[in-house]
Amino acid sequence: MEKLVSLAKRRGFVFQSSEIYGGLGSVWDYGPLGVELKKNLIERWWRSVVQEREDIEGVESAILMHPKVWEASGHVSSFTDPLVDCKQCKKRFRADDERIKGKPGEESAQCPVCGSKGTLTEPRMFNLMFKTFIGPVEDAASQIFLRPETAQGSYVNFLNVMQASRQKIPFGIAQVGKAFRNEITPGNFIFRTREFEQMEMQYFVKPGEDEEWFEYWHEERMRWHYDLGINPDKLRYHPHGPDELAHYAKRAEDIQYQFPFGWQEYEGIHNRTDFDLSRHQEYSGKKLQYLDPATKDRFTPYVVETALGVGRLFLVVMADAYREEEVEGTTRVVLGLHPSIAPVKVGIFPLVKKDGMPELARNIYKELQKLFAVFYDDGGSIGRRYRRQDEAGTPFGVTVDGQSMTDNTVTVRDRDTLKQERVSVDQLATYLTERLRP
Ligand code: ATP
Repeated sequence: MEKLVSLAKRRGFVFQSSEIYGGLGSVWDYGPLGVELKKNLIERWWRSVVQEREDIEGVESAILMHPKVWEASGHVSSFTDPLVDCKQCKKRFRADDERIKGKPGEESAQCPVCGSKGTLTEPRMFNLMFKTFIGPVEDAASQIFLRPETAQGSYVNFLNVMQASRQKIPFGIAQVGKAFRNEITPGNFIFRTREFEQMEMQYFVKPGEDEEWFEYWHEERMRWHYDLGINPDKLRYHPHGPDELAHYAKRAEDIQYQFPFGWQEYEGIHNRTDFDLSRHQEYSGKKLQYLDPATKDRFTPYVVETALGVGRLFLVVMADAYREEEVEGTTRVVLGLHPSIAPVKVGIFPLVKKDGMPELARNIYKELQKLFAVFYDDGGSIGRRYRRQDEAGTPFGVTVDGQSMTDNTVTVRDRDTLKQERVSVDQLATYLTERLRP
């Protein structure tokens, strides 16, 4: 994990937020390579979930929503963790923190940080939503929340989307966007952060068909992760037991990855029943129902949700792609990212900075730039330039050498096999396009 965090910073994938001020707890920024990788992950998801399907529509709802949304959704009353404070060192912990010795609130209980006895308060419920105010007056009436999930923005738009797109049940609404949770035990780098991005899809189905659709989405989502090239031995399902289920869920499953710090969830599949739509009906007074044109049945649809965190997926693909290997007596660090998500697709290198090589390499760079994210590098030995791109996960390296100047061919080096092939400059774009297909 330490190596991954260090690579992420060194190569500009992830930086600590506000680092020059000492950082902000569990908030992270994405650097030049990170933002490309993140965009590619989102695009791959959007393509398969929205663009390649007839039955799913996209929306982008606002982060700020009517405060009643969060009363209806149950987040105001239930989105809470029990916490204890130490009156001595002022630190705050989750009541179920394994490091606490004894029962919080009692004289014998011991603070895991300062070691004081009898200084821990009784557990108190703490809401994870960030609060702010809308408009000029900061009072209870103007209090609103930063959304803790994107899903509610899709539910409140259920009728709008269905009517505008003329979809019929079953159909889905997909959304990518920021969510905020004032997590108490954040950490593990970008695994659990206070500001994060979600890729969520709400699939509206006829009650009674929800179990079947749950199975369908379970298969579909797992296939998606396999297609991304994630090591299948490090992927598994974890069905939620009754005490793990969220307040809205009838059935839930995590897709887990074996991170360097253990098996953890990174995508959730939830049968949310008609909980959300029914509650919004109740709180808004608006009917959120579906009239089946064939049977004339009127019902409130059930929802099967797939919820994936962008940052967690980012950490999964980084951890899964990271490897160190011996090549010609030296160790190289490689990010074996799937080509479709690699931040840079092709590195372009003149072997030396003379004899027309930089000019030809620049021309190739300008041409390929129109097709993919490419990187030009003429600094240092060619071996070092290859290594830098290996660390960035760049699948191909194109080198212009002496021979290029006589026969208009270049070498193309494969990041994983290290094989080099000579390819005519005229064929280069086609050669690379074929190999970079998703
Ligand atoms: P956890 O228990 O791990 O905090 P959760 O079960 O509360 O997660 P969901 O509410 O199901 O998570 O959210 C769906 C997905 O959103 C998660 O699988 C994860 O990928 C992502 N996610 C949730 N909370 C965070 C967070 N604080 N930081 C980063 N990603 C998150």
